[in-house]
Amino acid sequence: MKSEKQIVEEMQAVVEQMRLDDIEDNPDIIDETFECDCCGQSKCLAGSIEYDGYRLCNDCVLLAETGFALKKFDNIQTLIDAMEDKRLEGLCDFLKEEEKRANN
Ligand SMILES: [Zn+2]
Repeated sequence: MKSEKQIVEEMQAVVEQMRLDDIEDNPDIIDETFECDCCGQSKCLAGSIEYDGYRLCNDCVLLAETGFALKKFDNIQTLIDAMEDKRLEGLCDFLKEEEKRANN
């Protein structure tokens, strides 16, 4: 049985690899941005994924995949709604902490 932390770490590796693969396939993608349908911010296309008609940035893909893996929700609409009312703020904050650690 994996801990939530292990699942989160695995997902971070998988989602980061998606981003790196996109950049390897098309290095110019680094300069391409779009407005994420989940967080609403202008984000790099690299590592973005479309789910059910919503295009999510790499950060939100991580939230989505982690949420699915931890069974916090089972469809993308739930995540989109949750981002609006911040019900998943706890999870998001946890990931932000991890990001800070990774960037140091
Ligand atoms: Zn996003």
